[in-house]
Amino acid sequence: MRIKDAAICLRTVNYSETSQVVTLFTRENGKVAAMAKGSRRIKSSFDGPIEVFSFGEVMFITKDFGGQLAMLTEFSQQPRFRGFQRNLYMLNAALFAAELTERFLEDHDPHPELFDKFQKFLETLQQTNAESEILAWLILYQLRLLEETGLAPMLDACVNCGQTRVGTAHPTYFSSSHNGLLCADCEMAFPEKRLIDTSMLNILQNPAKLPKTEMKDLNKIESLLIYHFTELLHKPPKMAKYFG
Ligand SMILES: [Zn+2]
Repeated sequence: MRIKDAAICLRTVNYSETSQVVTLFTRENGKVAAMAKGSRRIKSSFDGPIEVFSFGEVMFITKDFGGQLAMLTEFSQQPRFRGFQRNLYMLNAALFAAELTERFLEDHDPHPELFDKFQKFLETLQQTNAESEILAWLILYQLRLLEETGLAPMLDACVNCGQTRVGTAHPTYFSSSHNGLLCADCEMAFPEKRLIDTSMLNILQNPAKLPKTEMKDLNKIESLLIYHFTELLHKPPKMAKYFG
């Protein structure tokens, strides 16, 4: 089947001296791994080599029997997301978001809203300079990625007993394995939990506050999310070492 779609490249691996295997986040078809034959040649059907964050309209052919790489036949690249190199922190934030997107999406499972959010996240990053704002936008995107992939944590009640007074008077904990808060009565039974203070909880419950949050609180939230991603993926994300 021949498919035309909008795409952002999440990952590239050189396949031979002239070709690449690329992982694309497409708007209507989700994550697609494709062979880009001849993409490393100066003259190719892909406007030159494909890089992470290459953006534009793609054409690819999928095999009907599944499980195989798609064949990329066209990539009309627009110079949209090429400004990250000027700021290493920004580049690392963008790469971290790309890595997590690649890890959490299933092949050919469409997430058009997440695609739009990823595109918007990359656009917003390029207009940002302060590290605190960059980290705030990264956290917002990470929370949306969890929501869109059905992994949104439960942050308004204890995941174990359901009581809703968590986070008020007593210390509150977050359990990655149970994907939510634990109250003071339940926390003893969950050894992998992390303590979560009221200011962190307040921000996580109201993510609109993120852009106005101080760096030290953002770092605490990012550390918690890295713990959560590490548990979910059974190993730390590669880009985690630059954050938290
Ligand atoms: Zn409880």
